[in-house]
Amino acid sequence: MIDVLIIGTIGYDTVETPFGKRDRVLGGSASYASVAASFFSKPGIVAIVGDDFEEQHKQLLVSRNISLHGLKQIAGKTFAWGGKYEYDMNEAKTAFTDLNTLLQFDAHVPEEYRNAKFVFLANTDPVLQLKVIEQLKEPEFIVMDTMNFWIQTKKDDLLKVIAKVDVLLLNDGEARMLFNTVNLLQAAQQALQLGPKYVIIKKGEHGALLFSEGKHFNAPGYPLEVIKDPTGCGDCFAGGFVGYIARHKKVDEGLLRKAIVYGSVVASFNAEDFSLDRISRLTSNEIEKRFSEMREIREF
Ligand code: AMP
Repeated sequence: MIDVLIIGTIGYDTVETPFGKRDRVLGGSASYASVAASFFSKPGIVAIVGDDFEEQHKQLLVSRNISLHGLKQIAGKTFAWGGKYEYDMNEAKTAFTDLNTLLQFDAHVPEEYRNAKFVFLANTDPVLQLKVIEQLKEPEFIVMDTMNFWIQTKKDDLLKVIAKVDVLLLNDGEARMLFNTVNLLQAAQQALQLGPKYVIIKKGEHGALLFSEGKHFNAPGYPLEVIKDPTGCGDCFAGGFVGYIARHKKVDEGLLRKAIVYGSVVASFNAEDFSLDRISRLTSNEIEKRFSEMREIREF
């Protein structure tokens, strides 16, 4: 039995930041999100990889107790992405996106996952996100993420998915792009009118904003001393957020706020090293300690 179903990409990233460069390291929205969620509950992944996907990377996911029954492996190349960050590390400049085997993916949800109540549609083709929703029996809480690539190439499909979810996650740049406004409050209000009960706008190292009808919460970012590579921070934020909610099996404003802070904590650790290097050796104790520090930061 899984607690949270995650669909997204598993891929190989080539990343350059002011602090170094890595070629073809493990990445992808589902990789980051599932490892982040695994600190709080049991995730199951729906994703596709090619025959170049390495056993050591599969084992990394298995070692975090992530179910891989929905992971399909076919002949061909695994999804690959390249990106570069300047000193403002809040947004990557995409160098290339090679969809590869993602183009042949049918997003089949295994029978044993179809009862999942908590679902995270991580960043991937919105057509696949929609296919997953259609296969679920009685989902209670669906969270979705996306990025500029899909806003630019598949906006109509994306809007269909947004109408079916409980929480829409966007970073500030994507929110402005999707709703054609510089004002984040207006973007959030437009997003809420499309159907979601909650909209979360991530502001990189500056934290996240939670909007719902008539309510607003502002979570701080964690002031990091070491930051090497922010790739995957959005996915870690989301994975931690959904994983925490799935553990408590209920949804209310107080829990959502705590979940946002847990998500920010896991994301902050992720930025301390390249690929999944930091979160794959993270412990629950470290998460709790930083969560308490975040409480202190907010008190006034
Ligand atoms: P983020 O949390 O936004 O930094 O996500 C970074 C991850 O997203 C990287 O590991 C990439 O492999 C993955 N990624 C990049 N572009 C896409 C895309 N168009 N669709 C799905 N995943 C992507």
